[in-house]
Amino acid sequence: MNSDPSTQPSIIIGGGISGLSAAYYLAKRGLPSILIDNGKKLGGVIQTDTVADCLLEGGPDSFLAAKPEAMALITELGLAGDVIGSNDHQRSTWILKKGRMIPLPEGLMMMVPTRIWPTIKSPLLSWSTKIKMGFELLRSPRPNAPDRSVGDFVEDHYGREAVEYLAEPLLSGVYGGDPYKLSVESVLPRFAEMESTYGSLTKGTLAGLAKAPKREGSTLFKTLKNGLGSLVDAIEKAIAPHCQTLRDEALAVSMEGDEYLVQLAGKTLRTRHLIIATPAWATAKLLAGLDPAISKLLSQIGYSSSMTVGVIYDRKDVPQKFNSFGFLIPKTERRHLVACTFVDQKFNHRVPENRLLLRCFLGGAGNEAILDWDESAIKQAVLDDIDTLLGLKAKPIAIEISRWPRSMAQYEVGHKKVIQELQDRLKDYPLLFLAGNGYLGIGIPDCIRSGKESANRFQI
Ligand SMILES: Cc1cc2nc3c(=O)[nH]c(=O)nc-3n(C[C@H](O)[C@H](O)[C@H](O)COP(=O)(O)OP(=O)(O)OC[C@H]3O[C@@H](n4cnc5c(N)ncnc54)[C@H](O)[C@@H]3O)c2cc1C
Repeated sequence: MNSDPSTQPSIIIGGGISGLSAAYYLAKRGLPSILIDNGKKLGGVIQTDTVADCLLEGGPDSFLAAKPEAMALITELGLAGDVIGSNDHQRSTWILKKGRMIPLPEGLMMMVPTRIWPTIKSPLLSWSTKIKMGFELLRSPRPNAPDRSVGDFVEDHYGREAVEYLAEPLLSGVYGGDPYKLSVESVLPRFAEMESTYGSLTKGTLAGLAKAPKREGSTLFKTLKNGLGSLVDAIEKAIAPHCQTLRDEALAVSMEGDEYLVQLAGKTLRTRHLIIATPAWATAKLLAGLDPAISKLLSQIGYSSSMTVGVIYDRKDVPQKFNSFGFLIPKTERRHLVACTFVDQKFNHRVPENRLLLRCFLGGAGNEAILDWDESAIKQAVLDDIDTLLGLKAKPIAIEISRWPRSMAQYEVGHKKVIQELQDRLKDYPLLFLAGNGYLGIGIPDCIRSGKESANRFQI
């Protein structure tokens, strides 16, 4: 292989959105790369399909509009005209409590109540929780508090019921994690800052709202009309002139002089600039021989497994109208479903008039065994829950299962310390970068940022 550093291709292992973003930002500078991915398609957990005329997202379905990196990339790729927002004007989400669907009270921001009357009226929370929420306003600032679990943190502010019926279900779709293990510093850093500055989360959130510029028509989530898969397609097209894609599994990484050797079955590739954009547990395996200490740190970053099940009905078989984005099911309610989206309500352009699409979310910490069930058992469990919870007995015209084993990083208490140690140890390895959802953000914009930084820190 060419060993002239100015023309020797960078190597990227992992072709999810993190690795693809790295390839894109290298290609943008005219730099060559080789992208190695062992999935069936590029995109990692981003997989869009059309089933029974519905656009179905098997993995993520949108991204947080507040983080700029996804919009910036989409705009560069010429897809800005395809961006749509969630239909927030009709946004209401239900929570299952003792078998009843109860709307989240208006003004609730994550688990923070910002409007008194809707919170008081809501049957979702008991009087003792509401009183605790009122007294929470009187807390004094708590600077330099140690990292704690999200569960302990929310319980301290608003009580245990707020963990069970707000924090746990609201976070389950993002992390699929146990709130008593997830780190507040890493998962809800803004809340940790508010506690430090204001004491009260309610006071901090209200102060933030007062300062924030009013943005008419802005939505919390954005996505692409033709699905997030169209972002993957556009990146593939943009990188093609500069990037060679290998559909292969990287087996190990070692070093010779200032070059990294990437071992594939039957061949070895060399590069000075290596980006590993695989889940942290896979990166741990790749680096086990090169640096056991780095590998050990990486294996401390846990991952949970999740699954989405798209259930499509013919509208004429379903008398019910669901005027909601969907519902969340607290673990304590003990169902198979963790959450469900009424896709036609959340986004336009996904579901034709004559169809109903329910996107169900299952698995997550403590419920991962369901990923190993066979297809018919999973379908039956989902349909039983839909029948019990929504009274929907119709036979669907299609059911699509997407399993995502070890896909959602768990930022547990102490995560920041692990990342700091990793960064320190990586200083011994020039031009080796780690990107992906295991480190500094799990959402699509965070992953794009990690890929972009890994590409842009490479100076020849
Ligand atoms: C079900 C689900 C729903 C989600 N919903 C949202 C959402 O709505 N919004 C949002 O912002 N985020 C969401 N997320 C999170 C977000 O989608 C992911 O964190 C992000 O897409 C991860 O991208 P990645 O490139 O880091 O990793 P991945 O997508 O996991 O890609 C890693 C790639 O590396 C490859 N690979 C692994 N090992 C090797 C190897 N040894 N050799 C070669 N290739 C290898 C894999 O095949 C894979 O293609 C969701 C995640 C899941 C699982």
